[in-house]
Amino acid sequence: MAAPLPAGRCGHVRLAALDAAAAGRAGESEIAALFAARGDAARAIIAYADELRRAVCGDAVTYVVNRNINYTNICTYHCSFCAFSKTSAKAGLRDAPYRLSAEEIARRVQEAAAAGATEVCLQGGIHPAYHGDTYREICRAAKTAHPAIHIHAFSPLEITHGATTLGLPVTDFLRLLQADGLASLPGTAAEILCDDVRARLCPDKLSTREWLAVIRAAHGVGLPTTATIMFGHLDRYDHWAQHLLIVRRLQEETGGFTEFVPLPFVSMQAPIFVRGAARAGPTWRECVLMHAIARIALHGAIGNIQASWVKLGVGGASACLAAGANDIGGVLMNESISRAAGAAHGQSLDVAALSASLAHAARPLTQRTTLYGRLRGAPGCEDLSALRAMRGREVQSSGRPT
Ligand code: SF4
Repeated sequence: MAAPLPAGRCGHVRLAALDAAAAGRAGESEIAALFAARGDAARAIIAYADELRRAVCGDAVTYVVNRNINYTNICTYHCSFCAFSKTSAKAGLRDAPYRLSAEEIARRVQEAAAAGATEVCLQGGIHPAYHGDTYREICRAAKTAHPAIHIHAFSPLEITHGATTLGLPVTDFLRLLQADGLASLPGTAAEILCDDVRARLCPDKLSTREWLAVIRAAHGVGLPTTATIMFGHLDRYDHWAQHLLIVRRLQEETGGFTEFVPLPFVSMQAPIFVRGAARAGPTWRECVLMHAIARIALHGAIGNIQASWVKLGVGGASACLAAGANDIGGVLMNESISRAAGAAHGQSLDVAALSASLAHAARPLTQRTTLYGRLRGAPGCEDLSALRAMRGREVQSSGRPT
């Protein structure tokens, strides 16, 4: 790879170190050191990542038209960062516990498809009454409602829960879901793939080894997944480096990751932050560097780095698109998890505003499929008004309180 930077050192970053990271030859300490970069050194890393992005992906900024359907916010787990899960009806109207019926899920799928969505992303809490057949029913409801829609659903935790409750190996359960219409999985519930952090952040959740086993099984049966990292809470730079290397190693083994999605910790309503036990999220410098270093450390393994506008806002996503990211994810509707944690963004993207902010950089917005295929005759910004109109209706048709 030939980055347009002078040879030797640039802002106290050795270019050889960036070349080594991009070739998959850097270790944990070398990658962790990059996260400490400031000033000219940080700018050199960002420029290097931007050049890699241009070489691998070109200038197009991709997005998928999708709808997030969080079918329940009731959850038996106790993740210390989660402001989304509810366990009782005492939380007040805005945060009332709910569980969507199969009929309501189908209605939302049909409405999304009618508005131009090509994907529905289905995730929720681990409801105590849910078992493996519940996830199958959710899948079938979505697929029957609109057979052409891409069903991107169920975190590795939900897959494990469904398989366990049916007494099935994970692989067998994934095959059943596949037959019901499941087409890919979100690589959520990863948080930080380091068990010392997970022991404090999400002690009753999957271990790193268990998360990797579900993802490996999904890739093995032909279900692609995304990969995520949630950063800026209890974690350190060496944890971030470790996470990137773990993801890279699995991708080299399976090739099943479609993208890497950095998710900055949204702290405002997060219990662990409210009680003073966590950082308030990553700094701006760390957010931008995470996208840049992910681009470099995953080079040759994962081609797509997503800037989550839901977490970052349009301005933040634009900055990350100039630091190695090439995708902005979904034009979401009903993204309730980030908003529950206090994020100001997360209903539906103002594509026109993002398009305008990218115009000066000559970065055209291009609609893609979930698996990064290009869509012929994809709608332009002006055609997305139906999605925005639907968002308005959703405010009045939230889930059924249980
Ligand atoms: S992050 Fe997921 S598993 Fe953890 S408490 Fe929240 S909804 Fe439940």
